[in-house]
Amino acid sequence: MRISFNRVQITAGALAALCGMAVLGLVASRGGVPEAEVAEAVYASVPGRAEVHEIARGRTFGGILHDAGLGTADYRRVLDAFRKEADPRRLKSGTSVRIQWLETPGGERLHRIEVGLNRDQTVFVDCGGGGCGASTMTLATSIDTVYAAGRIESSLWSAVTNLPELAATSAGDRRNFVLSLDRVFQWQIDFSRQIMPGDTYRFVFEREKRPEGSMRTGHLLSAEIVNSGKAYHAIWFDPNGDGEGTWYDLDGQSVRRAFLMKPIELSRISSRFGMRHHPILKEWRNHNGVDYAASRGTPVQSTGAGVVVRRNRSETYGNVIDVRHPNGFLTRYAHLNGFERGIAVGSRVGQGEVIGYVGMTGMATGYHLHYEMHASGRPVDPLAIEFPPEDPVPADDRARWELESAARLALLFSLPGPDELRAVRADQ
Ligand SMILES: [Zn+2]
Repeated sequence: MRISFNRVQITAGALAALCGMAVLGLVASRGGVPEAEVAEAVYASVPGRAEVHEIARGRTFGGILHDAGLGTADYRRVLDAFRKEADPRRLKSGTSVRIQWLETPGGERLHRIEVGLNRDQTVFVDCGGGGCGASTMTLATSIDTVYAAGRIESSLWSAVTNLPELAATSAGDRRNFVLSLDRVFQWQIDFSRQIMPGDTYRFVFEREKRPEGSMRTGHLLSAEIVNSGKAYHAIWFDPNGDGEGTWYDLDGQSVRRAFLMKPIELSRISSRFGMRHHPILKEWRNHNGVDYAASRGTPVQSTGAGVVVRRNRSETYGNVIDVRHPNGFLTRYAHLNGFERGIAVGSRVGQGEVIGYVGMTGMATGYHLHYEMHASGRPVDPLAIEFPPEDPVPADDRARWELESAARLALLFSLPGPDELRAVRADQ
């Protein structure tokens, strides 16, 4: 299935078609058609909701059911049924757990739980009035490619989630597209501050889907963001062919750095590094970190790979985790509501791995994450440091890179470019 612009339509000069597809604000102001509301109504009419969880390291199937809010009776019934098909203690980290709730006149009730045992096998636990029953099914997944392009009016988030062209994809998938763009371009662009009206984006995303249409896995094949007239590119390439690929720019330089730009996805900075008036101590003090405003329970990720060297509670920091990284770097995550299960002193954590959750423990006036970075024992401003890029495309793989990147760029460039997307606006 190909969702999006059809090259023929665009080369035929169908600017009107472009208006209808790419620029939501324009459609609304021209024809008075409330596209966004139409799209929302489609989702609101679904009589229930589904949530997808992932069994992270140190997390259990039972823990996910508990966190999802299953009552004691449902919890027991689901586990008993599931055990007839598989051992819940032997589920691998990364296993997806999809929980479906049904809207009934008496309120929400548990409908079905799907656990992806491996690439092809899924355990279904179906719950009705009488109880729960489980079965294992072998399902073939399919792969499709999603194409999208648009103009940013306010934020990348609203530009992508409101793109009428993507209305056929689930809200979860659209969230995934934005998070992927944020993850890939985080070192080049600060999406919370730098995005300007008139910026454009286009991307090609490869999805592996379950038979009923939900996304199992996926990644950006190629993407472009034009921010204040400057174009940034990211092209997927898998040097070892083991599925652990990453993204490179047009020259084959990695877009990734040793540290993520921020420990919380799509977050907002509420206080920067440097002198400030302390909200509790009521005096001027040096702020040795960066604060990120986020709601309670928002996952906190380790910004780099390393080893946990501190996980305790202090009067000032509240629940705090320190991670030691190579080359004398240390990162600190404070005021946590709680720690991720399995995270202890000595734990090895990867870049982007969830280690705790946002809270306001210790000396804090509201829910936020206090994030510090230390270099050789001294606090430094994580937003001011230029981290060296990760390895470029290996010399041995250069020939294959040339071929594959050209193909992925061709897919990207088959979408309308910045000039075409902006022309729609100028034509108004
Ligand atoms: Zn702080």
